[in-house]
Amino acid sequence: MNSTDIDKLVAGFPLVKKLINLETVTWFNPLATTLEQGLPYVGLTEYDVADAEARLQRFAPYLCLAFPETQKTHGIIESDIVAIPSMKETLQQRYGVEISGRLLLKKDSHLPISGSIKARGGIYEVLTHAEKLALHADLLVETDDYSKLFSDDFRQFFSQYRIAVGSTGNLGMSIGIISAKLGFRVSVHMSADAREWKKQKLREHGVNVVEYAQDYGVAVAQGRKEAESDPNCFFIDDENSQTLFLGYSVAGNRLKRQLAEQQIVVNENHPLFVYLPCGVGGGPGGVAFGLKLALGDHVHCIFAEPTHSPCMLLGVYTGLHDGISVQDIGIDNITAADGLAVGQASGFVGRAMEHLLDGFYTLSDAEMYALLGLLNRDEGIQLEPSALAGMPGPARVSMSSDYLRNQHLSAEKMHNATHLVWATGGGMVPGEEMKKYLATARI
Ligand SMILES: *Cc1c(COP(=O)(O)O)cnc(C)c1O
Repeated sequence: MNSTDIDKLVAGFPLVKKLINLETVTWFNPLATTLEQGLPYVGLTEYDVADAEARLQRFAPYLCLAFPETQKTHGIIESDIVAIPSMKETLQQRYGVEISGRLLLKKDSHLPISGSIKARGGIYEVLTHAEKLALHADLLVETDDYSKLFSDDFRQFFSQYRIAVGSTGNLGMSIGIISAKLGFRVSVHMSADAREWKKQKLREHGVNVVEYAQDYGVAVAQGRKEAESDPNCFFIDDENSQTLFLGYSVAGNRLKRQLAEQQIVVNENHPLFVYLPCGVGGGPGGVAFGLKLALGDHVHCIFAEPTHSPCMLLGVYTGLHDGISVQDIGIDNITAADGLAVGQASGFVGRAMEHLLDGFYTLSDAEMYALLGLLNRDEGIQLEPSALAGMPGPARVSMSSDYLRNQHLSAEKMHNATHLVWATGGGMVPGEEMKKYLATARI
C-alpha cells in the first residue's frame, strides 16, 4: 500500500492509525452475534467436531504406545485447568481495575508430545492423513486397534510418503515429531522467528529443518512449493486447513467436562470469558469454535495479538481478512512472541469466525515479558512469551464498561464470571532459555 491508500484506510477505519503507531488497542466486534446466527458462516458443524473426537479416540491406543507420557490420559492429548488467584491480585494492581469472578489458566503449555497448543491441531492433521493413507491401502479398518500402527511394517509403509509444513516453531515441532514417529519423511520450513532449540530438537527426531531469514508467510510459501513438486508429499496448510481447525475444536467439549468437574457453571448468569493468543488464527479459531458449540452464547472469546503482529484484528476490523498484511500498513511483524509472529491472517478462519468472536486486543512485547516474570513469581508457572498474551484480557474486559453494558453483563453476573486465560506454550522451553526469558522480564 502507498501512503494515499493507507490514509484512505485510516479514514474509514480509525483504529488502524493506532495499530500503525503500535499503540495497544482493545476492540469489541460489532459483528459478534449468537451461535445460531454465526454458525452458518463457519461451514462446519458439531458433526465435524464429533468426527474429530472419534478419530482421536481411535488413535489413543497408538499414542499411548508411541508417547508413554500420554498414558495417564489414556492416549488423549489434553491439559489441566488451574486457578491462579495470586496472579489475579497482581493483574488487578497492575492494571488498576477490579476483576470480578475467578481466574483460571488452561495449561496447553504443558500438553504432552510438543508442549504447546499445536499438539492439538498439528498432531490431529498428521493422524488424519496417516489414517487415510492406511485405509486406502487396505492396511487398516476403523474398528482396528490402532496400536498396530506402532510397528516397523507401518513405519515402512509411511516412509514412502512425505509431509511438509511452514512454521514459526511450535507447529513444526508438533508435526515434525508425530510425522517422524509414524515413519513419514518430514520437512519443516522454519521462519526467522523460530527458536534455535526447536530446530535442534526436530533435527534430533530426524526431521529435515529448512531455515529462512524471512517471516512465517515466506516459510509457508516455500513448504507449499516443495509439496507441489512431489505427488507423494502432503502439505499442511496452516493458513487454510479445516482439518487443523477441527483438531483444535475438540478442546470445547473437553473444557466443558473439566469445568463441570470443578462445579463451574456457564450460563446467562455465569458468563465465561476465554482469552486466546492469536497468530494465523487456526488455533484460537478452532478452540473458539469448539467452545461455542459446547458452551453456547455465554462463552465470550477474545483474541490477543502483539502490537507488532496484529494481523487478525486488522483483517476482521477492516473486513479485508487475508487481503491485507501488517506489513502493508508499515508494521514490521517482529515480536518476541514467536508463536504469534504472523503478518497476514488465515483467510478461512477470519471469515468463518468473525461472527462468533467478541473482541480483539493487542499488547506489547515488554508486557508479555513482564507477565511471564509475574506468573513465574506468583504461581510458579513458566510459559513462553506468546502464551502470556491472554493474561491482560480479564482487565481489558473489566475496564470496558460500554461492552459490558451492551452485552447486559451486569456487576452481579460479572461477580459470577469465570475468566480463562489460554496458556498456549512454554512447557518444553529448555531451562537455559527460560532463564533468559526471566532475565528479560526484570520484574
Ligand atoms: C501457534 C501459536 C499460537 C497461535 O495459534 P495460531 O493458529 O497461529 O493462531 C499461540 N501461542 C503459541 C505458543 C503458538 O505456538
